[in-house]
Amino acid sequence: MDRINVTKSFLPPMAEYQAYLARIWDADQLTNQGPLLQEFETKTSNYLGLDNFHFVSNGTIALQVALQALDITEGEVITTPFSYVATTSTILWQRCDPVFVDINPDNFCMDVTKIEAAITEKTRAIMPVHVFGFPCEVEKIEAIAKKHGLKVIYDAAHAFGVKYHGKSLLDYGDISTCSFHATKLFHTIEGGCIVAPDDAVSDKVELIKRFGHNGDEHFMLGINAKASEFQAAMGLCNLKYIDGNIAKRKVIFEKYSQLLNASFQKLALNDPNVDYNYMYYPVVLKDEPTLLKVVAALNEQNIFPRRYFYPSLNKLPYLDSNQSCPVSESISSRIICLPLYVGLELEQVERIANVMNNSL
Ligand SMILES: *Cc1c(COP(=O)(O)O)cnc(C)c1O
Repeated sequence: MDRINVTKSFLPPMAEYQAYLARIWDADQLTNQGPLLQEFETKTSNYLGLDNFHFVSNGTIALQVALQALDITEGEVITTPFSYVATTSTILWQRCDPVFVDINPDNFCMDVTKIEAAITEKTRAIMPVHVFGFPCEVEKIEAIAKKHGLKVIYDAAHAFGVKYHGKSLLDYGDISTCSFHATKLFHTIEGGCIVAPDDAVSDKVELIKRFGHNGDEHFMLGINAKASEFQAAMGLCNLKYIDGNIAKRKVIFEKYSQLLNASFQKLALNDPNVDYNYMYYPVVLKDEPTLLKVVAALNEQNIFPRRYFYPSLNKLPYLDSNQSCPVSESISSRIICLPLYVGLELEQVERIANVMNNSL
């Protein structure tokens, strides 16, 4: 039996990548805002309908540059405990203190009703995550941020291709970032982007991502967040397939929903204002022992789901403070993401659903 992992990187036909490689050899430029990177930025931002789009080397440095460009270098940043570790680690890397606001158990995003209680004099920004591509309550978050003079940075690593009220979910907040890592919905091998609607902020991002200087003139502290021509080439190849890939994922997603026992808590995609990207298929089990039982049954069949996201980030061992987030801790202990990728056969989906249902 073939091993089935939670995800599998999409690869375009090799000849299409090779055609771009030939262009790199011809142009003789490997990195530093080369022609393929510029073409990739134009095509991707047009596809998403975004201005001020910056292609960078990964989704983690995108968050770090976003914080730096908004001058968030001290104080507290309100964030979610239910995410990948990079959401919290970038806040710590900026020498800021993460303050965790617990999540809404229905969509796993930050519970907006709990944000204001977490605001102090030291709060500088709110960094929510559209986790699994499910939109946060962006209007309410914007209203709270405005009222208290805070910046909003969305970690939109899962939001590529998601539309909310007909526009890209990356078009919200002072800055939104995305990851184009090989395991993500849309990838450039390693990579990510920063979307900064305000022109002045966007200009700062442009400088910071290239060491903070232009020629011999040094303006501010910067870092190296540049992506190469080889990453841009992979992105240009993959962009052609994105709509088709989202459609294929939708078929798999709906098959799971149709087959899985009603007692599994699934993500309810019933908001008519959201065009979803079908990036993940999370399932919440009754409790952790049930999770361990279901995972063991799947592993026995060579099927490997992932515990996304575990542990709850407020429990990271290297945090100074001991903050409690009971909802996130509970969900984290009993949620798994099922295999979902282009190339997963419907009969494999049936097999996975059967093992899940029978393990109850
Ligand atoms: C993947 C991911 C990141 C990090 O992106 P990289 O490109 O791997 O650095 C950040 N936040 C979330 C929520 C992610 O899933």
